[in-house]
Amino acid sequence: MANNEDHYSEEKLLENNFPNLTKDSPLFQQKLTDIHEIEHSLQTLMTLCGQQENLPDLDKTPFRVVKAFLEYTTGYRENPEEHLAKTFDITQNDPIIVKDIEFYSMCEHHFAPFFGVAHVAYIPNQKVTGLSKIARVVEGYARRFQVQERLTNQIADAVVNMLDPKGVIVAIEAKHLCVSSRGVKKEDAKTFTIVSHGVYSSNPQLRSEFMMAIK
Ligand SMILES: [Zn+2]
Repeated sequence: MANNEDHYSEEKLLENNFPNLTKDSPLFQQKLTDIHEIEHSLQTLMTLCGQQENLPDLDKTPFRVVKAFLEYTTGYRENPEEHLAKTFDITQNDPIIVKDIEFYSMCEHHFAPFFGVAHVAYIPNQKVTGLSKIARVVEGYARRFQVQERLTNQIADAVVNMLDPKGVIVAIEAKHLCVSSRGVKKEDAKTFTIVSHGVYSSNPQLRSEFMMAIK
């Protein structure tokens, strides 16, 4: 559907996504050339697939696709770990569990969305972060070209690097559109991945408490 974004230019798109690049820099100009080439290729892709009619509404589709891809991948233009830089001191060491963090990501093999929920728990080692910050970390790594296994690991690693907890565990349940819509059609298939470090790897009781909590 056509809407206001049609009036938005390629230059504006670059300015919004790469605020540190000045308009007359070689890199900015290179990216502008890249966008025009991608738009041309997307037009070719549509023709290859069999789209023949010259529908006015589709004129701007290549531009909208580029714009959407820049939105799917904002995570490349930030360092998600930094969301955990601000910490608070505490003395208790009960698990902190943040569950059902919704995310949308993009399968790097098919450019098809995969989405679902992430659950993160850690046992603090004197340092905790704000609860919403964990969700920011998930978002930062999800908004890239991804595979679910790497996404799971990156979230766990960020918690280890920034909070140095006694243990961390990350579980992700996701539906992959490349699985449900192509080849063997298994519409309800979900993929579950889990990564743990520290006491969550060595202590089965902590692990099963976590599994109960996310059920
Ligand atoms: Zn895929």
